[in-house]
Amino acid sequence: MRINVLGVGFDNLTMQEAVNRAMELVREPGVHSVVTPNPEIVEVCRENPAAREAVNGADLVLPDGVGVIKGAAMLGTPLKEKTPGIEFAAHLMGKMAEEGLSLFLLGAKPGIAQQAAVRLAEQYPGLRIAGTHDGYFQEDGPVTQAIAASGADCVFVCLGAPRQELWIRENGPATGAHLLCGLGGSLDVFAGAVERAPRFWREHGLEWLYRLCKEPRRIGRMMKLPLFLVHVKQEKRKK
Ligand code: UDP
Repeated sequence: MRINVLGVGFDNLTMQEAVNRAMELVREPGVHSVVTPNPEIVEVCRENPAAREAVNGADLVLPDGVGVIKGAAMLGTPLKEKTPGIEFAAHLMGKMAEEGLSLFLLGAKPGIAQQAAVRLAEQYPGLRIAGTHDGYFQEDGPVTQAIAASGADCVFVCLGAPRQELWIRENGPATGAHLLCGLGGSLDVFAGAVERAPRFWREHGLEWLYRLCKEPRRIGRMMKLPLFLVHVKQEKRKK
């Protein structure tokens, strides 16, 4: 049973359980998906039914950050732990490398996915990088064809939310891959173009503040965070 946080159902799994489940999905026939919503995406889902449907329709819905964990606890239905998309992706690549599975990197500005591919291939010997494509394309057809031709087992779809979740839902089957993961800005980090917050900030639930200091233009998006907490409090009162 999923844990409902303002209309988004989260799977209640530890990081290890989530990665193990994802490994089962990548081996199963058919197409599967993983999404990692943060409070900002939960807020988008409240206003955008198509985004909500795409997120809730994923096979695994993992809480990206401390905000969702706090929200679930406030609602009296705690989640086991946060499973940040980027850390989930790192663990998954470790496992995929052990089995020699292949990965396609889709998203970010031109050149970034290739740069990430070089670094990841070094970091995860055994992982096969099936191909890359930037995230600034107009037509889906050539992109799904490129993924299908690559024979990738798994695709990291990093187009920003909710575009990536909608893209996965609509185009996932045409890629022929067994697992598609929506992972926001992860390729920028894997490429070394953007740094993650240092450990202190992460461990104190302040990654959002670090990102805001680095990229002040995110302020508009980040205003969704306090709004999320207000909505959780309202929901709690209703309960
Ligand atoms: N992006 C993309 N295509 C677009 C818009 C965005 O590939 O049309 C990429 C962007 O370059 C960045 C990622 O999507 O790499 C979104 O990053 P953001 O920091 O917004 O995501 P978050 O991690 O906060 O969800």
